[in-house]
Amino acid sequence: MKKVYEVKYFDKTKNKIMTMPLEDMVSILLSIESNPNFHIEALKAQAVAIRTNLARNQLKAVEIDKEPIFEDGVSRGKINKAVNETEGIVITYDGKPIDAQYHLSCGGSTENSENITGNQVLYLRRVLCNYCKNSPYWQNEKSFLLEEIQELISRRYPDFKVEDLEIVGFMEDIERDDYGRVRYLKVGNEIISGSEIMELLELDSTRFIILPTGVKFISRGKGHGMGLCLYGANKMAEEGYSFDEILKYYYTGVEIEKAKLPSEERPLNGRIITIDPGHGGDDCGYKGDYLGLLEKDLVLEISLMLKDRLEELGALVFLTRDKDQNLLAIERIRKANEINPDFFISIHMDYFPNSTMKGVEMFHFRDDEISKKIGLSIMKSLKELNIPTRGVKEGNFYVFRAIGTSSLMLEAGFLSNKEEEIKFKDRKYIEKLVTSIWKGIRNYFI
Ligand SMILES: [Zn+2]
Ligand SMILES: [Zn+2]
Repeated sequence: MKKVYEVKYFDKTKNKIMTMPLEDMVSILLSIESNPNFHIEALKAQAVAIRTNLARNQLKAVEIDKEPIFEDGVSRGKINKAVNETEGIVITYDGKPIDAQYHLSCGGSTENSENITGNQVLYLRRVLCNYCKNSPYWQNEKSFLLEEIQELISRRYPDFKVEDLEIVGFMEDIERDDYGRVRYLKVGNEIISGSEIMELLELDSTRFIILPTGVKFISRGKGHGMGLCLYGANKMAEEGYSFDEILKYYYTGVEIEKAKLPSEERPLNGRIITIDPGHGGDDCGYKGDYLGLLEKDLVLEISLMLKDRLEELGALVFLTRDKDQNLLAIERIRKANEINPDFFISIHMDYFPNSTMKGVEMFHFRDDEISKKIGLSIMKSLKELNIPTRGVKEGNFYVFRAIGTSSLMLEAGFLSNKEEEIKFKDRKYIEKLVTSIWKGIRNYFI
């Protein structure tokens, strides 16, 4: 029997997290967020974008904030067709589902992600789009009194001052990008970004001009402007483009393919895990008292073995280092945050003056429930294989604080304990240890 992949969502009436099949969730979200009058290929493009975001954020429960609108049988039929005909298909970049941003209408060109969020995302590049020209959002006018603008800006900028409330020179030094979106402008004594003005004055987009008759803003487009332009997609569909051509037009350099979703054989499909072997290079970490084994070598051996085992289950595994090299904490953090994994595990060895101390010890960051649960799951499988453990505790490490994901620090054994150091000389023991870490992680995710 084919296992249906389920997504988590927050059920407001029951006030708890529930699950439903992925494709059902795509239907619900598409019926909330799309325009059923759109061409079927445009609806398919949006269905794929929605599915991609669900596949990307598997650990997060979906919040449904509106009721689905199924106005009539025709709309419902179109929504179902769009979902069924793209079943399982997602947009990927480098083998991973993308952050499939979309907006109603771009007003002439979409936007580079760094101009909106500050982060450069390679597939969210500016593309020209005249397709949304006939959309109801192509152009929009909004007028303000100078006093109104002053009041709205002062909410965010308490020191905001204007010499004279006069239209001439009230807003000046407008800096635009080559495509007409306002990047910055000067109002009174403040320099404010176009996206902040858009937010503060509730304009439809950053592509606006100001007419000094009162102060009238004429803005073009609707939404942040990143990624898929929905009205543009509709027009392209009407002109005969298919959903995958539309998606490839708006998302730069992506692939359209079947999602690698968790299955019976590969339960960690779609999961991203980063393993961080401690120390390396000049920094050897602890050294065994009896055999002189080095922490940096042992943790690398464990990490490489763990990577292979987790990849067999379908996970995408990254190592912060895969050889004996120097690596600063800041680089470990950068590597982890760049990838934004579901889980980060740092591997170390322990040492204590009292040489009888032994066993695997784990630390999670305060309030990090996920890594605490993964730690407890690993502890359970360690016990099953009779490996001594010292439990899962709360730790407060620099690395954890800066990593934007659930992180666990695992200390695999004490190099100050002769008996334990000897065990680490034996590859069989390391295999057994890795098996229990691997099992613990797997059991948490399935
Ligand atoms: Zn557009
Ligand atoms: Zn260490």
